[in-house]
Amino acid sequence: MKTIEPFTPIQYIIGHTEFCGFDIAVNKDVLIPRPETELLVQAVLDLSYTLQPTSHNLNILDLCTGSGNIAIALTKGISDCRIVASDISQDALEVARSNAGRHGLSYRIEFIQSDLFLNIKDKFDIIVSNPPYIAQFEFETLQKEVLKEPILALDGGEDGLDFYRKIVRSAPDHLRPGGHILFELGFGQASEIQKIIEAGGHFKIAEIRKDFNDIDRVVITKWIN
Ligand code: GLN
Repeated sequence: MKTIEPFTPIQYIIGHTEFCGFDIAVNKDVLIPRPETELLVQAVLDLSYTLQPTSHNLNILDLCTGSGNIAIALTKGISDCRIVASDISQDALEVARSNAGRHGLSYRIEFIQSDLFLNIKDKFDIIVSNPPYIAQFEFETLQKEVLKEPILALDGGEDGLDFYRKIVRSAPDHLRPGGHILFELGFGQASEIQKIIEAGGHFKIAEIRKDFNDIDRVVITKWIN
């Protein structure tokens, strides 16, 4: 019998979890989808209703897709959208591809291995991301179970904000005019992320949404120039 390492999250042991009502397979190569991230999906869905009908199908990029949870929930929720989902980890993409296949969505989601925008050529209406956002000093306070998740999916650099800076800097090259970036954020990061977004001069904050614990959790931005 295979022994289970102490502090292995239950989702890795049983091999799946639920996200937005969909069964999502997980293994140690992907972050376990969290309930808070459903709020990010809801924010993209709400935005999509205000953007449609457009002259074209909505083009959405899911950066750091992990298990593919966000891409899958969005594809199920928005008819006719086109989704590109990327991750730096080939192992994570394998999990995401297989999840899309199990939900009959392989033909609607294009998976691309990419370090953020590196291999992304298209322009999108919406960029959505739940990037790694744990700051270095927070690692020692994390639950032991969380430390079983892939470091690549957690580590946001010294202050946890590296990915927000990189995505905000490069996003104008990958958005259609007037496009949007939607991020999930970590506890206490809202004001710093607001500064990053506004300092670049290309985006304004349209809305910040709180989670069930009254923590700022989702930021919705709009490209202004
Ligand atoms: N997109 C996945 C999620 O939201 C993975 C995120 C990540 O790896 N940082 O759960």
